[in-house]
Amino acid sequence: MTIIDGKKISEDIQNEIAIEVETIAEQGGKIPHLAAILVGTDGASETYVGSKVKTCEKVGFRSTLVRLPDNTSEQELLAEIAKLNNNDDVDGYIIQLPLPKHINEHRILEAVDPKKDVDGFHPQNVGRMALNLPTYLPATPYGIMQLLERYNIETSGKHCVVIGRSNIVGSPMSILMARNSDQGNCTVTLTHSRTKNLKEYTLKADIVIVALGKPEFLTADMVKDGVVVIDVGITRMPSDKTKSGFKLFGDVKYDEVAAKASYITPVPGGVGPMTIASLLMNTLKASKKEIYS
Ligand code: NAD
Repeated sequence: MTIIDGKKISEDIQNEIAIEVETIAEQGGKIPHLAAILVGTDGASETYVGSKVKTCEKVGFRSTLVRLPDNTSEQELLAEIAKLNNNDDVDGYIIQLPLPKHINEHRILEAVDPKKDVDGFHPQNVGRMALNLPTYLPATPYGIMQLLERYNIETSGKHCVVIGRSNIVGSPMSILMARNSDQGNCTVTLTHSRTKNLKEYTLKADIVIVALGKPEFLTADMVKDGVVVIDVGITRMPSDKTKSGFKLFGDVKYDEVAAKASYITPVPGGVGPMTIASLLMNTLKASKKEIYS
């Protein structure tokens, strides 16, 4: 059984990008510039954005953080988006989610210029992904595809079961794994909260991608020997065994499933660290105008 080390792969990607940025700088090219909009003062969102900005600096990117107060109106946010759309110096930007409840998330995400949509959430980019055209892939699914590729995990002709159909993980994952491309070419079953007899599907799966947000949901009796397991779930639970008083749980009952698996991602240290690597890869693509010229 091989433990898929997402932390290492993410660091490898960051180092590769840092080297490329150094070369760009030496040749007098444009240094990639990522901007982020943060509305409000939600603690978790502040941490996520802070770590994205810090990693940008680590690889040599430029970064800009636009902070807006909780009571920012939709119109005011749209005005900030228009500014970033028109700012030629900014290659790509993200809007940290969730947004305050009085703001319509879909309207906001559709206002982002698809050329700068490095989160890959704009409907145009989602459509391009479905059509197997060059695009910005959403961060978590892109990270998972990188893990499969870098561990040389065969996907062609395999049966992949995805658990969960969210717009940010399960649904794009099912599209990517089914596409006619090097990583993909699976027969995909997309399962969700209305799926009956889930175990019937997971027991037949060569690859299971679990993204539902229920700690230790996937158990050993639900998978076959040799299965590849990608655990996307992250749930913070109180614990008296850690200093912080919390422990992170994935959606997989790790020890017992690992004993049957050929490859498995741990939580933490599996899929989680890949999200930032994907964002950096997308920003570099935006800066080099690889997707849209
Ligand atoms: P979500 O809440 O938007 O969607 C959950 C999905 O699970 C839904 O489609 C639902 O139909 C399905 N589901 C619920 N109960 C089910 C059941 N009993 N059987 C089958 N399907 C069921 O979740 P999300 O945003 O996709 O996130 C899922 C998990 O992944 C969460 O723990 C989240 O924190 C984590 N996550 C991790 C990363 C990362 O970088 N590692 C990124 C995004 C999300």
